[in-house]
Amino acid sequence: MALHAANFYGNISPELQMEDVDTMQKTRSPNTYDIQTAVLSNEEVAEAHYLLRCECPQIAQHARPGQFVHVMSSTGTGLLLRRPFTIYTVEGTQITMLYQIIGEGTKRLSEMPIGASLQVLGPLGNPFDIASTSEPAILIGGGAGIASLMLLAVALCERGIPTLGLVGAQHRARLLSVTDLEALGIAVHIATDDGSIGHHGFVTDILRDILGKTDWKLPRIYACGPHGMLAAVAQIAADFEVPTQVAMENRMGCAMGVCLGCVCPVRIDANQIEYQRVCTEGPVFNANDIVWEF
Ligand SMILES: Cc1cc2nc3c(=O)[nH]c(=O)nc-3n(C[C@H](O)[C@H](O)[C@H](O)COP(=O)(O)OP(=O)(O)OC[C@H]3O[C@@H](n4cnc5c(N)ncnc54)[C@H](O)[C@@H]3O)c2cc1C
Repeated sequence: MALHAANFYGNISPELQMEDVDTMQKTRSPNTYDIQTAVLSNEEVAEAHYLLRCECPQIAQHARPGQFVHVMSSTGTGLLLRRPFTIYTVEGTQITMLYQIIGEGTKRLSEMPIGASLQVLGPLGNPFDIASTSEPAILIGGGAGIASLMLLAVALCERGIPTLGLVGAQHRARLLSVTDLEALGIAVHIATDDGSIGHHGFVTDILRDILGKTDWKLPRIYACGPHGMLAAVAQIAADFEVPTQVAMENRMGCAMGVCLGCVCPVRIDANQIEYQRVCTEGPVFNANDIVWEF
């Protein structure tokens, strides 16, 4: 399927050269599709958080845990760039996205009614790697970060891997995904910044507590959330020597590896640091490869 510059960027920037678009097309994996679709539902599920559903058969077929889509209203929102969202669930030929209103793009997305036209590019990025693991899993999500862990939760449960969920939110009304995780049979621990439900404090407090007590041998941690939370998870994981994968949510431009807007510093070896693209080398990284103090 041809990828048109105007589709890709919405209102195309005059500075964007066609060679850049050619490079983007070549950079795409063969299992990435740019689909024109429509909003099937778009409901507020928690304060300032929405669940959007749309029909995307090819994306649904190829989506793997942690992968994301790049989304734009195909009738034009007046915004230059698409916005990236992790695929929250796959149900038959439909996908959902769970998103927080942050700025103009997500505000406009939240206002899109049923039937509104959407352009969805995906699935993009490297998924969580669970191919060679049978160790118990701890999923830790902060705010809308939990959205990146739901397909992973489903995959772990399908493989019979014991899984624990740690979910953090600012306050009770912003708590996400607890019932979805519990429906999979996952026990969930909750933390809120104001103590309105669960532990009063950071979700990383619970992680440290659990790792200090658990008799699970060599669990694996999978995390997504704000940068500071992920840095704290990485430190705790290092203290307890627990292998940890994190899904990074850096601001993103093209999502095709061309604009370099989403890079993060990654340690290649003891002496070398390299900037890697969250869109193509990520969004999932080993926590101890990321240079968090940058
Ligand atoms: C791979 C990936 C997957 C993502 N998945 C989800 C998801 O499933 N659910 C979800 O709610 N969000 C997700 N995000 C974040 C989401 O893409 C942004 O919140 C969204 O693009 C913000 O767009 P906006 O137009 O509303 O805000 P903007 O107007 O672009 O920004 C508003 C303000 O927020 C800040 N900001 C915007 N984006 C980010 C960011 N990524 N990191 C730090 N600060 C930022 C800006 O500096 C600005 O101050 C994901 C991001 C990535 C890269």
